[in-house]
Amino acid sequence: MLTCKESAWQQFLSFVQKKTSSIEFQNWLSPIKVLELSDSSVTLEVPNIFVREYLIDNYKQDLLSFLPKNASGELAINFVISETQSNPEPLKIVPKEEKNDSNFIKFNKHYTFENFIEGTSNQFVKSAAFGVAQRPGKSFNPLFIHGGVGLGKTHLLHGIGNFIKQNHKSLSIQCITTEAFINDLVFNLRNKSVDKMKRFYRNLDVLLVDDIQFLQNRLNFEEEFCNTFETLINQHRQIVIASDKPPAQLKLSERMVARMEWGLVAHIGVPDLETRVAIIQNKTVQKGFIIPTNVAFFIAEHIYNNIRQLEGAINRLSAYARLMNKEITQDVAENLLKEMLEFTPSNKISVESILKSVASVFEIRVSDIKGESRLKNIAEARQVAMYLAKELIADSLTKIASSFGGKTHSTLLHSWKKISEEIKTNEMLGKKIQMIKRNIEAQT
Ligand code: ADP
Ligand code: MG
Repeated sequence: MLTCKESAWQQFLSFVQKKTSSIEFQNWLSPIKVLELSDSSVTLEVPNIFVREYLIDNYKQDLLSFLPKNASGELAINFVISETQSNPEPLKIVPKEEKNDSNFIKFNKHYTFENFIEGTSNQFVKSAAFGVAQRPGKSFNPLFIHGGVGLGKTHLLHGIGNFIKQNHKSLSIQCITTEAFINDLVFNLRNKSVDKMKRFYRNLDVLLVDDIQFLQNRLNFEEEFCNTFETLINQHRQIVIASDKPPAQLKLSERMVARMEWGLVAHIGVPDLETRVAIIQNKTVQKGFIIPTNVAFFIAEHIYNNIRQLEGAINRLSAYARLMNKEITQDVAENLLKEMLEFTPSNKISVESILKSVASVFEIRVSDIKGESRLKNIAEARQVAMYLAKELIADSLTKIASSFGGKTHSTLLHSWKKISEEIKTNEMLGKKIQMIKRNIEAQT
């Protein structure tokens, strides 16, 4: 009888083995034992609750096909957790420094608040981070920092870490990437030391978690993370999380998203030009060389949405300055950084922004320019708008022309030629066009 029952489980296993990686199979499915199986129910022994969750989350449908169901058609599985039965670890308080696992990140000593240059895009998040570092667990909890790649999220996490290590020496603090947290969990599950791991995490005063986006689609780990999270917050321990997206945009459970929104959600944006120049100047001074202000502006104008790239540029220039012992001019910078610089004079400018600026300088409406009116002032404004669109937008003429109420590309070209000729002699028109260009630049 038992062999037959066991074979139902065996059948299930051989069925799912085909669609599971061998590591996953070995880690999660092999350790499960059948303790009892009848026509109406089955009792499985699992090493811990994660295996139970894993099994149900991932194989519910398959289990239904192979194993007994109850009257209402649901799985009739009882779980027995072997760990708690046979291997109860005595509960002891883990000394704070006991675990020095390689999974944890050492704080980068350069990532301090002092070295973090402030601008409008990051002022708020910096002061939130500083507030947390000064009074961990007592201000915003959790602090959730989100923003694009290379904008200083990790820097701020380490800034908090460095500050707390210096100013609150008795607090235990760890920084972990989400990948490392998952690895830690898998390791401890395998070694049946999950309780120890839990105690460790739950004894921390401050937990910094980097790149939480990696928790997406890791259903089995999300729950353990969420539990750790709740335990810490309930004990007024500080949590800081960094992510490339705001909580609501992460593909995580509602419960997890809600927890992350409990405290303060702060965005870290792309720094503006002045801040980028300040960052360049600060980093060059740190590296012991100086670049002229105009070159700093030149670089900041053309590397704008990732500070790590700015650093890469500075490293290259610094190597050049050291090896060649030459001054860094704009030409040198342009040459050395060729493939790093982004020249986007035109693609950020839209026909709409041109239309708006032209309309305001000619004191007419955008709809007039798009319309058919042949009144001199309106017709001229329309030609100027087409001229500027061809000059400033790197798109096909046909596409640009169609944005002018469905004009053809030859009309556009005709207008462009006409205005190009006219500004050679018509100073007034030239000035108007200059003014429009400045308006457009100010908008983009
Ligand atoms: P993220 O984690 O957001 O991808 P990082 O924190 O790794 O970005 O930052 C990338 C690099 O840019 C780091 O070397 C960091 O020191 C630097 N950096 C980012 N923001 C600033 C800033 N405001 N001032 C100075 N350096 C910064
Ligand atoms: Mg980072």
